[in-house]
Amino acid sequence: MANKTTIEWTDTTWNPVTGCTKISAGCDNCYAERFSERFRGTPGHAFESGFDLMLRPERVDQPFHWRKPRMVFVNSMSDLFHKDIPDAYISRVCDTMEQAKWHTFQVLTKRSSLMRNFLKSRYGEGSGPTHIWFGVSVEDGGKLSRIRQSAHIEHFNADVAKASVADRLKACDYIFLAADSMRARLVVNALVHQYLIPAVQLGSKVRADEQGQVIDAFSAIRPLRPGAGCLWCNQLIDPNLLAKEAKTDAERKAQAYGVEEPNPSVISLNAVSAGHAVNDFLMDYLGLRADRQLHYQHINALTGKLQLVEPRQDADCPECSKGGTRFARGDGADLPCTEG
Ligand code: SF4
Ligand SMILES: [Zn+2]
Repeated sequence: MANKTTIEWTDTTWNPVTGCTKISAGCDNCYAERFSERFRGTPGHAFESGFDLMLRPERVDQPFHWRKPRMVFVNSMSDLFHKDIPDAYISRVCDTMEQAKWHTFQVLTKRSSLMRNFLKSRYGEGSGPTHIWFGVSVEDGGKLSRIRQSAHIEHFNADVAKASVADRLKACDYIFLAADSMRARLVVNALVHQYLIPAVQLGSKVRADEQGQVIDAFSAIRPLRPGAGCLWCNQLIDPNLLAKEAKTDAERKAQAYGVEEPNPSVISLNAVSAGHAVNDFLMDYLGLRADRQLHYQHINALTGKLQLVEPRQDADCPECSKGGTRFARGDGADLPCTEG
């Protein structure tokens, strides 16, 4: 099957293999399975055998017939690194991809260790041709280890506004910030632009009217990129709240969310924003962001609607503009941390 596709980040799908078997919760809603099984038993149909794994050698040469360069999503209806696909067959698919170098091939798998072993034996320690993108799909943060087993994920259940904690954040390659505190936003916002560390701020909010009726409930993610519009530019750091924030540990404890008064549980909404934040990270990490345009995402829990908001940037913002006092200064500027 070589299809024009509605998938926004590719031009064409190419399926030298079809069918697969489920290996994780991320497969629960597998589109490929639903589509293929619809035609099981239909005589003469390409999916007469439903979602059973099938090699399609007659399709291996298809990319040679597409003269114009395309983005080609490989095996949209399967997983090229399924354990029952012989290495010799994967090699044939790779031969085609290597030779048809006017295209860009996008290979996504959930079987990261099988892919890693195959690529090691084919390319050694080298990185392989740059027009073939090998990526790993990950459905949630718990599966991030599929990406690179040496990737280190550290949880900071600590006040990131403290100098000692912020110091450790300087060594991160990517920061997921989930914190109510304005001071935490202030510090991470500064880290992003000063030390050029991409990040995402995520969280959720529930508002109720005086009768206790929920009138607003949403999850939000806000990607932060060095040199792009920052939390100040987008009025997401409130100077009044910042000034009011508790200064001592005891004051902070007393202000902790839900301790003194009933507050709605936002755990499930936070899980929604965490999922979106991981996807957003992967869009960049795997080079899948189609338009290179960053958006904040607001997911309304009452309507289920997703709203994309284009972040703004003040041309003369001292925090994020290139001519400002913080951008790319590293240790040459102070972070707005508290002591400790
Ligand atoms: S690995 Fe991909 S193609 Fe295979 S069952 Fe899971 S979601 Fe479907
Ligand atoms: Zn700014």
